[in-house]
Amino acid sequence: MNTATHADVSQVRVNGGRLWASLMRLAEIGATPKGGVCRLALTELDRQGRDLVVGWAREAGMTVTVDQIGNVFMRRAGRNNALPPIMTGSHIDTQPTGGKFDGNYGVLAGLEVVRTLNDLGIETEAPIEVAFWTNEEGSRFVPVMMGSGVFANAFSLEHAYAAQDTEGHTVKDELARIGYIGDEVPGQHPVGAYFEAHIEQGPVLEDHGITIGVVEAVLGIRWYDCTVTGMEAHAGPTPMGLRQDALQVATRIMQEVVAVAMDHQPHGRGTVGMVQVHPNSRNVIPGRVKFSMDLRNVSNELLDQMDAEIRAFAAAVAEESGLKVEIEEVSHYPAVPFEAGCVAAVRRATQALGYSHMPCVSGAGHDAVYVARLAPAGMIFVPCKDGISHNEIEDAQPAHLEAGCNVLLHAMLDRAGVV
Ligand SMILES: [Zn+2]
Repeated sequence: MNTATHADVSQVRVNGGRLWASLMRLAEIGATPKGGVCRLALTELDRQGRDLVVGWAREAGMTVTVDQIGNVFMRRAGRNNALPPIMTGSHIDTQPTGGKFDGNYGVLAGLEVVRTLNDLGIETEAPIEVAFWTNEEGSRFVPVMMGSGVFANAFSLEHAYAAQDTEGHTVKDELARIGYIGDEVPGQHPVGAYFEAHIEQGPVLEDHGITIGVVEAVLGIRWYDCTVTGMEAHAGPTPMGLRQDALQVATRIMQEVVAVAMDHQPHGRGTVGMVQVHPNSRNVIPGRVKFSMDLRNVSNELLDQMDAEIRAFAAAVAEESGLKVEIEEVSHYPAVPFEAGCVAAVRRATQALGYSHMPCVSGAGHDAVYVARLAPAGMIFVPCKDGISHNEIEDAQPAHLEAGCNVLLHAMLDRAGVV
């Protein structure tokens, strides 16, 4: 029975204490002495975590389906069940020295949204679903974001099934062992829109004293190897004017990687993280230097610009020095802009709730990146202490988690429609 009017619905708030209690209960499964969680994908502990969350969903009156890669969809019926569901979710597997919040928050925030709707008897037009995706972390089995990746057809089910851990156990065998191989073909499950709430895993929100990050995009990444070739020679007898010093040329390009990123703010990133100097001897002029370049930005156009500027600089330095400079792209992940309507729904909900907020981007991958290939998607970030995650000391404030969950609730209601 629907007892809430439209005006009432804007006043609805989640139960932050219940959300926190659920997070702490799930964190007991695989709890580490330092206060973190070790619940690797498809282990016995993962099975216990999955069973706990699925049990909670059933208690909340939800129906549960599992697909062939073990992604779990927990559904609260809507008034019009022919409509594709408005979905939220994340993952409950962790790193070996993981925290209580990464992934788990997104799943349990979704469950809290459903519990809140149940408490108040609020019916939505479209069904609401809460998903958890298999092996997001990629710690025990590669590739990362495996369940959502298969769902989005980024790689095949067979490829994922064949992945092995260090002891030779395959994903397929382990899924079967823990009882989470379902019938549904991944990707066949309809999604009307997808929202994912997550701790930021970076320091920006905390640094600005802001409660909610309205995530507009996930940064694209390009990885390169750059090789500068000069001539090895004795550091003593070779005068400065007659050298082909590869390191001196390489360091100019390395500085340019950072300078180009600084010229493409607010989201440009440029990092040289790996340098190999040949022959790496104190009295030999370096003859060859190979270094990595990691460029990130919010759109492929901006990445194209950064790429072009670095290549032009490298060509000019090569010309001027007479040394050979080669740049090879070794990896390429496109930027993922979230759907404008989902981003707007998150922003509207945040404003209506009166939380401080700022637009932000994600520098890390999330299941939402893959789901965004199939459906309109958006993300909600909340601060985490010192920006730290993938660490047992990962921490977040209950008030921030509650705020993010309220934003999730209202963004989902916005998309699902309230009867
Ligand atoms: Zn995560």
